[in-house]
Amino acid sequence: MLSAILNSLFFISDWRFQGTEHFFVAVPARGVVVAVALVCLILIGRAGSMAAAQRVMGLWQAGTAVPVAFLVSSHSDLAFLVVFMLPAIFYLAVPAPFRQTVAGGAGCSALMLAGYLLPVPLPPTVTGLVLGMVMLNAALLLTVVRSNRLRRLEWAAAEAERRTKEELAASRAMLETMFMAAPLPLVVTARADGAILRANQAAYRFFGGDPAALGIETMAEIYSDPLQRGALLKEMERCGRVDGFEARVRLAGGDLRDVLIAASPIVVNGEEQLMAGVVDITSRKEMEAHLERLATTDPLTGLANRYRFFGVAEQEITRAARYDRPLAVLMADLDHFKRINDTCGHEAGDYVLTAFAALCRQILRPSDQIARFGGEEFALLLPETGLPGAVALAERLRAATETLSVPDGRLRASTSIGVTVVHPGESSVDTALSRADRALYAAKQGGRNRVCVSDEDAVAETAGE
Ligand code: GH3
Ligand code: MG
Ligand code: MG
Repeated sequence: MLSAILNSLFFISDWRFQGTEHFFVAVPARGVVVAVALVCLILIGRAGSMAAAQRVMGLWQAGTAVPVAFLVSSHSDLAFLVVFMLPAIFYLAVPAPFRQTVAGGAGCSALMLAGYLLPVPLPPTVTGLVLGMVMLNAALLLTVVRSNRLRRLEWAAAEAERRTKEELAASRAMLETMFMAAPLPLVVTARADGAILRANQAAYRFFGGDPAALGIETMAEIYSDPLQRGALLKEMERCGRVDGFEARVRLAGGDLRDVLIAASPIVVNGEEQLMAGVVDITSRKEMEAHLERLATTDPLTGLANRYRFFGVAEQEITRAARYDRPLAVLMADLDHFKRINDTCGHEAGDYVLTAFAALCRQILRPSDQIARFGGEEFALLLPETGLPGAVALAERLRAATETLSVPDGRLRASTSIGVTVVHPGESSVDTALSRADRALYAAKQGGRNRVCVSDEDAVAETAGE
C-alpha cells in the first residue's frame, strides 16, 4: 500500500522528464510499479497462509525491481539514491524467509546496477559503484542475520516463559483438583483469626454447603465450644502439628457432630495458615457412649451398677478428703424379697425392684449416687452428708418403701438400711461399705424394716455427744 501511494506521488517527479526520451520509459515503468503494488495488495488480502503471503511478497519484489531498473536508467541524482535504497528496503522491510530476503536483496542490487550502468560504455565509476553495492549487501546481510538471531533468542525466551507458566498452571490445576477431590473434608484457615479461606468438596458435603456461601466466615462459628479453637492452637504450638484433636462442630443445619481434627501449619504467600482434615466420629462416640452405658448401668432399674458405683465413689472420696467434707455410705436390702418372688412371681419382684429404684431417685439428690449391687441390694453414696443427715434420709427412704407393694397389692415391701460415713484417712470406699453392710446385717437381725448406724459410727457419735 505504501509502495502504491509513494510511487503514485513519484509521477509528479517523473513529469520533469516531459519532452525527453526518458519520459516514455519513466511513466510506464512507474505505472507498472503502482499497478504491481495494487495487485499485490489485493492478492495479499486473500492469502490464506504465511507462505502464500510470502509468495505475494516475492511477486511484489520482482514486479517492483524490474520497472525500477528501467526508472534508474535516467542516471539522475534521485536514480542514484534509489539504486541503493531499494535493495535496503528489500533486505529490511520485506517480511520474507531468510533465503528469499537474501535472493531478493541481491537480485534487486544486480538489477539496480544493471539499470543504472547499462548500456555500454560503462562509466568510469563502475568499479566503485559495484564495490559500494557489495558493501551495502554485506552490511544489510549482517543486519538481517543479527536481527534474526536476536528475534530467535527473544522467541526462545518467550517460549520458555510460556512453557514454565503453562507447567505452573497445570501443576496448580492438579493441586486444586486433588484438594477439591480429596475424599476427606479439608479446610484451610488463617492461623491468626480462624477465618475460613478454603474448603474442599468433601467439606461442603460434611458441613452441608460451602461455608462462604452459607455466610460462615470463621471457625469460631463452627466449633460448638469457641474455646476449642484456642485449645487446638495451644496443642499446635506445643507439638508443631495436631493429630486426633477431638472437638464438636455445628453443621449448616444446626446439627452437632463429634469430629477428630488433624491439622498442620502451612505458609501461603507469607501468611500463616492451618490445613485441617476432619473425620466424623459421631457414630463412634455414640457407640462408645452406648457401650459405656451398657457397662455401667443395671438394665432392670436403670441405676448405676457396682462397677460404676466404685468409679464415682473413688472420685467422691478424693474430693471429700481434699475439701474435708462429709460423705455418707448406705446399704439397703429389701426384706423377705424371696417371699415376694415366690408368692407373686418374678415379674412382681421386678416391679418392686423398679419401684424401689424410682423411689430412691425421688428421695435422693441428683448428686447422690444410687447403685444396684445385685439382687435386691442397693448401695447409696451421699456427698456433703454427715451421719445425722444420712440417718434422716435413710429413715425417709425406709418409711417410703413401706408404701410400695406388688401390682395386685397382695404383699407390701419394706427395706432394711445400714448407714455409715467415710472416715478421715480412708482412701477407698471398701471399708465404709463393709461397715454399712454390717449395719445392714444388724438391721436384719433387729427385725428388718429399720435403719441401723454402724457400730463404730454410733460409738463415735455417742462419744461426740
Ligand atoms: P432378707 O430379708 O433376709 O433379705 O430376705 P430375702 O428373701 O430378701 O433375701 P434372699 O437373699 O434370701 O433372697 C433374695 C431374692 O431376690 C432371691 C432372688 O430370687 C431374688 N432376686 C435376685 N435378683 C432378682 C431380680 O433381678 N428380680 C427378681 N424378681 N428377683 C430377684
Ligand atoms: Mg433381702
Ligand atoms: Mg439380699
